[in-house]
Amino acid sequence: MSDLFSPFIKTEKQNELYKLAEKLALRVKERAKETDEQAAFSKENLRDLKETDYVTLTLPKKYGGKEISIYELLLVQEKLAEGDGSAALSMGWHLGVVKELAEDDLWDESVFDRFAKEVSEEKKIVNRIASEPATGSPSRGGIPETRAVRDGDNYIINGHKNFATMAGVLDYYIVTAYVEDQEEIGSFLIPAITPGVNVKHTWDTLGMRGTASDDLLLEDVRVHQDQLVEMKQQSKKPKGWLLHIPACYLGIAIAARNEAIEFAKSYQPNSLNTPISEVPHIQQKIGEMDFELLRARQFMYAVAEKWDQFPEKQMELGPELSAVKVAATNAASKVVDLAMRIVGGRGLSKHFNFERYYRDVRAGLHNPPMEDAVIQMLARKAIDAK
Ligand SMILES: Cc1cc2nc3c(=O)[nH]c(=O)nc-3n(C[C@H](O)[C@H](O)[C@H](O)COP(=O)(O)OP(=O)(O)OC[C@H]3O[C@@H](n4cnc5c(N)ncnc54)[C@H](O)[C@@H]3O)c2cc1C
Repeated sequence: MSDLFSPFIKTEKQNELYKLAEKLALRVKERAKETDEQAAFSKENLRDLKETDYVTLTLPKKYGGKEISIYELLLVQEKLAEGDGSAALSMGWHLGVVKELAEDDLWDESVFDRFAKEVSEEKKIVNRIASEPATGSPSRGGIPETRAVRDGDNYIINGHKNFATMAGVLDYYIVTAYVEDQEEIGSFLIPAITPGVNVKHTWDTLGMRGTASDDLLLEDVRVHQDQLVEMKQQSKKPKGWLLHIPACYLGIAIAARNEAIEFAKSYQPNSLNTPISEVPHIQQKIGEMDFELLRARQFMYAVAEKWDQFPEKQMELGPELSAVKVAATNAASKVVDLAMRIVGGRGLSKHFNFERYYRDVRAGLHNPPMEDAVIQMLARKAIDAK
């Protein structure tokens, strides 16, 4: 067990969850280079995540899940990301959405019941598909160009989504659209096999390539009105489950940190009588990495604990949740940068993992919430406070 990790495991259940994530992290790590090269979501990873029941961790116990808390979600997701950030971010969407749906009563009970049983018995996976080329990040509040037009008991949906993580392997998409007859944004639960739904392989990015966040095209997709599962105004609560994002990027940073220290302890150039780990500027960088990680992780786990332990305070936690994301993703970028500096020019080589970590952490900037919006929100709150 990593010395940085141990303080955060507090119960036997958490220890068991951690061991599961540790086992899976080793497996996904073996495939990380390949999925990065292919910009594809690994089918082998998905098989492992299903066979070990990782995909049902956030389901309520009554459906056979482990009903894990947000704190526990971060423990496992951070560990999984040590193996492969892409696998972790992708699973984080699925696990987080399932948790949100189970706890927030966003859907009609019978629809959620049917869906939860499919997750439990058939290990089906889901993601929210909200981003669009013309609307940008949904966190900005733009109205989707994807349109749902009423036709009797059905809706006909047309639109173009991008950044659809795991699009090619998902069983369900939760797609946002402007619902014309309601004059409001709604979300439709759409099975991947629905006619008119197509994945276009566009994902060719610098980082997080293994998330296979391709485009989703919806062409005259006919769905029953019952598949309109959410309307926008229903969900005002801050989203604690989005903490899976900082956990993921910190996991990538921990992997870079561990491998850099391992390298520093084993590399002894012939200009030195000791490994480079004994050189002051290397120690300075190692210290700075751990300082960044300690600070960001303490902050993240403290906010998660607050979320879990004080449900009555969840409505007020938006600013803290958002601040954790900004603090953690910036810390992760800094840690990976320091790890690269420790390793030197070798870090640029595809024979090491560092260059992938370096590319992957960069994507954290573009997951919600966006930094400028968070800083602006904190400023507004401070100025408006009495
Ligand atoms: C690895 C990865 C996985 C993802 N997975 C998913 C997923 O599964 N589902 C999903 O729906 N999305 C997903 N996303 C998409 C993500 O949530 C964002 O929608 C996407 O990254 C685009 O955000 P953006 O800020 O670059 O785009 P835009 O919103 O288009 O912003 C572009 C630029 O304009 C600025 N800007 C735009 N609007 C405003 C505004 N109103 N005020 C001030 N500045 C503004 C931004 O700051 C930025 O500089 C994923 C993204 C990544 C990187």
